[in-house]
Amino acid sequence: MPASDPLVSVDQVTRKFPLDHSAVTALDHVNLRIDSGEFLAISGPSGSGKSTLLNLIGCIDRPTSGQILIEGTDTSRLSPSQTSALRREKIGFVFQTFNLIPVFTASENVEYPLLVQGVSAMERRRRVAEALANVGLSSRAHQRPDLLSGGERQRVAVARAIVHRPALVLADEPTANLDTHNATQLIDLMHDLNRSLGLTFIFSTHDQRLLEHTPRIVSLTDGRIISDTHPEGESHGQVLTACVS
Ligand code: ADP
Ligand code: MG
Repeated sequence: MPASDPLVSVDQVTRKFPLDHSAVTALDHVNLRIDSGEFLAISGPSGSGKSTLLNLIGCIDRPTSGQILIEGTDTSRLSPSQTSALRREKIGFVFQTFNLIPVFTASENVEYPLLVQGVSAMERRRRVAEALANVGLSSRAHQRPDLLSGGERQRVAVARAIVHRPALVLADEPTANLDTHNATQLIDLMHDLNRSLGLTFIFSTHDQRLLEHTPRIVSLTDGRIISDTHPEGESHGQVLTACVS
């Protein structure tokens, strides 16, 4: 990709959901650029459009109008199989409800995306061990999810999301089912992985208390970006623009 292309470019994106006789505008002409290596939060109250935005960036959904570019590629031009390949190879997902496979151990859950990608058994073993070590769970590798705490389950989910070294990790309210202590730890863990491995994270939350150390915070209200903090100055980001037309 040309050096000038951002990792993610959201251009004039609107997403409407049809109802019986009208439409809900979940996102309204949103513009956003995210560079490789960023650690970014999408914040906003329930219903503000956080999930809609993450689903669009993750190519799980398509805009009603506007464009989403990943590394300069207009995702609307991709075929369904190219779209799933992009999702599989470039993006890691962390979900609010963990979404681990209950009959698999922690390490089998982390291995799963590599199996789907056809990675060799030896390489899978190496990368799974590394990813579990990255999230501090090497000693829990052979436990099934029901024997892990909520915080541990979500760390397994983070290991699964990073095991294939995606260009981008998307986490939609990853702390919603955690207590405050575990929630803070999870954000800190993701931030550590961002700094140590250079992984790009975009996570959403409606909990302002979790954003103290987040370098860039994009705030949504009613489907519009109302502020975007400056990526300089870790805890004292300055409001730059409301980049909505
Ligand atoms: P958040 O994640 O910030 O809570 P969402 O992106 O889920 O917000 O929702 C934004 C708006 O879009 C809300 O008004 C919601 O009701 C609406 N919405 C989201 N998904 C759908 C859908 N599949 N069908 C109809 N309306 C939806
Ligand atoms: Mg949501």
